[in-house]
Amino acid sequence: MTEQNESSDEENSEWPRVEVTRSREQVVGNIRVHRALPRRQRRAVGAWCFADHFGPTNGYDTRTFDVGPHPHTGLHTVTWLLSGEVIHRDSLGSEQPISPGQLNLMTAGHGVAHAEESASRSTGSLHGIQLWIAQPELTRHGGPAFDHHEDLPQVDLDQGCATVLIGEFSSSTSPARSDAEVIGLELALRGRSILPLSPKFEYGLIVLEGSVETGGETLAPGMFAFFGKGREEVEFTVASPSRAMLLGGKPMENPPMMWWNFVGRNREELQEAFESWTIDDGRFGTVQSEIPRITTSPPYWMSNN
Ligand code: MN
Repeated sequence: MTEQNESSDEENSEWPRVEVTRSREQVVGNIRVHRALPRRQRRAVGAWCFADHFGPTNGYDTRTFDVGPHPHTGLHTVTWLLSGEVIHRDSLGSEQPISPGQLNLMTAGHGVAHAEESASRSTGSLHGIQLWIAQPELTRHGGPAFDHHEDLPQVDLDQGCATVLIGEFSSSTSPARSDAEVIGLELALRGRSILPLSPKFEYGLIVLEGSVETGGETLAPGMFAFFGKGREEVEFTVASPSRAMLLGGKPMENPPMMWWNFVGRNREELQEAFESWTIDDGRFGTVQSEIPRITTSPPYWMSNN
């Protein structure tokens, strides 16, 4: 798939314009995902640097979401489901099923490993999103952690409701850890709502279900809308009940370098992480999982000479 057919409607743009891109289709485990971030033309939104929207599937089983043990550095993973159930296992010893309306937040710091698999259900569907937040310098070399939150604040919108996964919205603050200055909301929209925004933040919208109109654009699953900083509010209109993730954050001055499952600041850091995982030197610990451990070939800059 090439990245040439991006929508970029420069001529019709009136400030502040909405930038719409099409997500990239990938396969993760045995499931097809829409990858909204990173894209060549939009690497991140604030510190949000990765977004995979998966499902909804027609039925699922333990093989559907079957991601074996793999390492991470320098990021938080945020997992959120609309339907189904996924089991998280990590090298801290956590084993945590997650259901819709709950948040799994893993902090990698210097290094952690985890595996994810769908719980065994053959009916129903699996539908959700996994996001990464780049950790700031202050915590990215620190220890790993895992948190599960079942009780997140909800805020009434004009027509609909927002669940505050991360950060603060309309005087409600999520209990979830957030090292970077970010916000993450799940929006359940009906009719028309105007949401207050922080002018210091840039924002991105990922439609999970239904379709959302904003700034003259109609957004459906598989599309990603970016809103530059300087906005005080945004208006969303839906014809039928729809759900979306709104991500926001202070634009990063120095966007991190990402390779495979690692977030770092330079090639040496990414290479060290790759080598530690490949020789299994203990940096990432061990995950109790029946799924095989995932390995990868060396980064392209190591094999290019
Ligand atoms: Mn992962």
